[in-house]
Amino acid sequence: MARPKAHREHIQGARSPADLEPVAGLRETFQKLDFAVDESRITLDGRRMLLIDAFAVGALRTELVESLGTDAARGLLTRIGYAAGARDARSARNLYPGAEDYERAYIAGPQLSALEGLVNIEPVEFVMDVARGSFYSEYLWRDSSEGEIHVTNYGTGELPVCWMQIGYACGFATAFMGRPILFREVQCCGMGHEVCRVIGKPVDQWSDAERDLGYLTPRAFVNMHLVRSTALSGPAPNSRSTAPGGRRVESSADRQMVGISPRFSAACHSLNRVAPTNATVLFLGESGAGKEMFARTLHRISQRSAQAFVAVNCAAIPETLLEAELFGVEKGAYTGAVTSRPGRFELAHQGVLFLDEIGNLSHAAQTKLLRVLQEGEIERVGGIGTKRVDVRVAAATNANLAEAVNRGDFREDLYYRLNVFPIHIPALRNRVDDIPLLMDAFLKRYCDAHGRTVTGFTEYATEALLNHDWPGNIRELENLVERAVILAPEGGAIDAVHLFRNEDRLRAPNRNETTVAANRRNPALDPGRNSPDARARSRVRGGQTLDQVVDMMIGDALEEVGGNVSAAARKLGVSRARLDYRIGKRKKT
Ligand SMILES: [Zn+2]
Repeated sequence: MARPKAHREHIQGARSPADLEPVAGLRETFQKLDFAVDESRITLDGRRMLLIDAFAVGALRTELVESLGTDAARGLLTRIGYAAGARDARSARNLYPGAEDYERAYIAGPQLSALEGLVNIEPVEFVMDVARGSFYSEYLWRDSSEGEIHVTNYGTGELPVCWMQIGYACGFATAFMGRPILFREVQCCGMGHEVCRVIGKPVDQWSDAERDLGYLTPRAFVNMHLVRSTALSGPAPNSRSTAPGGRRVESSADRQMVGISPRFSAACHSLNRVAPTNATVLFLGESGAGKEMFARTLHRISQRSAQAFVAVNCAAIPETLLEAELFGVEKGAYTGAVTSRPGRFELAHQGVLFLDEIGNLSHAAQTKLLRVLQEGEIERVGGIGTKRVDVRVAAATNANLAEAVNRGDFREDLYYRLNVFPIHIPALRNRVDDIPLLMDAFLKRYCDAHGRTVTGFTEYATEALLNHDWPGNIRELENLVERAVILAPEGGAIDAVHLFRNEDRLRAPNRNETTVAANRRNPALDPGRNSPDARARSRVRGGQTLDQVVDMMIGDALEEVGGNVSAAARKLGVSRARLDYRIGKRKKT
């Protein structure tokens, strides 16, 4: 890292890094901080850092407690700490790249907290096996800045008070492990103990984690991790999906919202605010970002939860049939309309109708929809009278409706009717902190669904998932994990080779240099993956040999091109002769 020499000397003159060294290697981490004094900029791994007076933090904390109440302030600060920990985890992995250095990178977390002056950390016990999913960590926290601030203002009490630090530890460890890790203070200076003592374990290994998890989730309808489906009470009888194509009917309980990141939290707060009303809600976001899940949650937490939830994907129904689907048909309205039948609006009476891809509505359907929203009345196709319906509409689009209005493709009055309460669903690449939680949730879901035992994700797989750009958002992550659960060895872990096929890798754009650098360290994402060195590095930890991995890649490539060896060779970037040789070897063994 380029750093003007004078600045460095000045900083070292102020206080030697050796004085700050509570754990081995802190000096090394300290060297990664960049003090550009002339520009008033402190950076760490390209992130701007601030030196803030602990008194100011204390004043902010007091204001939060006084204005929000202790519980809400604790939740807010815990989640802010979580976001900081998750970011530090990314920096730690950039500072100590490579899966070989995973533990070294992990240790940078406590070092960064110590360096940032938050707390003096003394490790007691530390066990981490990413692929097996096992984690145990115990620390003593001495001189907790947060504890000191709290005790100064409020004295000691019965509950632990180092909220941001706990959040930080959870965020940091979760991002490393690819599964939710919960830390808890079993002693705290805020409770009168001399030092704080913290223990971290995977969430499902705590027997009484509900309260702690409550502080980590932005709303009660959000989960830190998905409970196993056997623990669910079964599908809600009134929750039906009527999308065409015989889509699997599932209950909203199957699809609990999972997340903690700031943008996801903001969307949840909006949802929580609008849910008890009857307002029309417009969900905006990229394809696969989870708009339908938000709509289902809206239904679940609304006053209409006992009534129907009906989903319609306007893009999946031919335009000529859509009107009849939505508003119903009277017998004889057109050739083939041999009986009268109700539309989705009538089916959703007193409940919630979710209209996905609303930008695809024809002008005629738009006019009818506007009428329902304004008058609460529908008219069946070929009908003469109107029917009153009481339906709350939730709509969604990944298109820019304002532009569609400008082009004349979408009615302006309907746009304003729908856009009363827009909620932006963030793309997955903008909620990276949630990836480990989603990985874990999907792992559990598909192990259950397919009757498989998979222990977790290897370091390579975790890195690959955290660095992927996710053009297909949560749906893409879910599909990758489902396939990987099937491909991974029974009783083993998911590795990068189980996740990404060549086409995924080629399609994924590299957003920035950090991603490129990270991908280089990752054999599965590395364009030079077929070099002997990269292949050697790709030796899988989940119990597979290099030969098995190569065979799997060849098998995938052959399958993708329908068994054409020349095409498979081109896909793999090797000569036909070499692939022939390799296939011959496969057949012998
Ligand atoms: Zn404490």
